[in-house]
Amino acid sequence: MAINLETPKKLKPLVEQAHQVAENVFRPNSRKYDRAEHEYPKELDMLAAAIDGMSEGGGVSGAGAAGVRRSDNGSKAEDDGSTRNGSNMATCLSIMELCWGDVGLLLSMPRQGLGNSAIASVASEEQAERYKGKWAAMAITEPEAGSDSAAIRTTAKKDGDEYVLNGEKIYVTSGERADLVVVWASLDPSQGRAAIKSFVVGRDNPGLKLLRVEHKLGIRASDTANFALEDCRVPAEDLLGDPEINPKGGFAGAMQTFDNTRPLVAAMAVGLTRACLEETRRLLLEAGVDVDLEQPLATQPAAVSEYLAMEADYEAARLLTLEAAWMADNRKPNSLQASMAKAKAGRTCVDVALRCVRLAGAVGYTEHELLEKWARDAKILDIFEGTQQIQQLIVARQLLGKTSAELR
Ligand SMILES: Cc1cc2nc3c(=O)[nH]c(=O)nc-3n(C[C@H](O)[C@H](O)[C@H](O)COP(=O)(O)OP(=O)(O)OC[C@H]3O[C@@H](n4cnc5c(N)ncnc54)[C@H](O)[C@@H]3O)c2cc1C
Repeated sequence: MAINLETPKKLKPLVEQAHQVAENVFRPNSRKYDRAEHEYPKELDMLAAAIDGMSEGGGVSGAGAAGVRRSDNGSKAEDDGSTRNGSNMATCLSIMELCWGDVGLLLSMPRQGLGNSAIASVASEEQAERYKGKWAAMAITEPEAGSDSAAIRTTAKKDGDEYVLNGEKIYVTSGERADLVVVWASLDPSQGRAAIKSFVVGRDNPGLKLLRVEHKLGIRASDTANFALEDCRVPAEDLLGDPEINPKGGFAGAMQTFDNTRPLVAAMAVGLTRACLEETRRLLLEAGVDVDLEQPLATQPAAVSEYLAMEADYEAARLLTLEAAWMADNRKPNSLQASMAKAKAGRTCVDVALRCVRLAGAVGYTEHELLEKWARDAKILDIFEGTQQIQQLIVARQLLGKTSAELR
């Protein structure tokens, strides 16, 4: 089976559609919602309705559209031997284009939250039907549990036909605007990671109390909410997956959904990196500096040499991201590649955005252009869904054959 690096023919219309959205909806509203932090980007409502229609036929989708289904024994479904460009590749390519437009607006797209990805991955048919058309955020992080998500302290106690949740959740993307929040909680903290389960909680549940919405460095169009769960009663049928504590399965399954979502965050970084490079190339040209690929590097201005070095990093990040998505679509274990892609793309995006600001000088630093905004937006892509250091840790564990207890 070989990987083909051309954009698959059947996905070209999708990439073109996503580019149109990025150019005609996201870019014109980019600065507006960077300034109007916490204001809902109402332009997205019409877009979301159109996308709902398109999604039925595999159209443009946001961060949380794709899920990963596993067979009952916990392994990925049987490989039928054919090469596929499935939903992971389609979502990655679509996200790259949309984030060329605006990362904050991509994250704000209704009904495309990370919680939707979790639901698409593990909900039963009955649950999937019940949550259909809803916007779901994902709440894992707590004040004492960030990188180490197994350390969460939120508890879920069974009481008749309900679970009662207590704890605190912070930094929930789309937490204020979503209809549902997928909350990670432990059935029994003494039993460690196997006891962690996810619960679908309605935003209107009186036990789910919004504490505040964060002010942020970048992606200011996207709302980031903090919650307290105070005797939050959730019907038992809103637990996702197996309600039993299974020391062998549970948590590993939850962690595996990251193998699908990390390439998507890498794709966001790739899209933003390309935006920075294209804008810088335009500004260099305006200043009379042309990037000429035909001429030897030694004969070209220093700015061109720097530009080409950044472009090489961009290509490496893009290829790693496509590889990780392709492997997910082809049912190949991709934890290593997903973390490599996320680490490389996250770091490249932050690095390139700042170097582009420097190359463009004052024009890059001021609000005349979007470069200064992109330099602020970039940083989160190297933090959420696992920081740079955590991705490197995962890569090291995989390459050295160490467990998380042996290397941390
Ligand atoms: C804008 C925004 C949106 C977010 N959205 C969501 C969301 O929707 N849902 C959600 O659940 N969470 C969300 N998060 C939380 C995010 O996933 C966490 O911030 C991230 O996992 C890091 O956790 P932390 O902030 O607690 O940092 P910590 O885990 O405390 O880490 C602090 C620093 O130490 C480093 N570090 C930690 N452990 C190690 C180690 N073993 N070795 C080396 N270095 C290490 C980290 O890389 C980091 O640099 C969001 C965060 C932000 C800022």
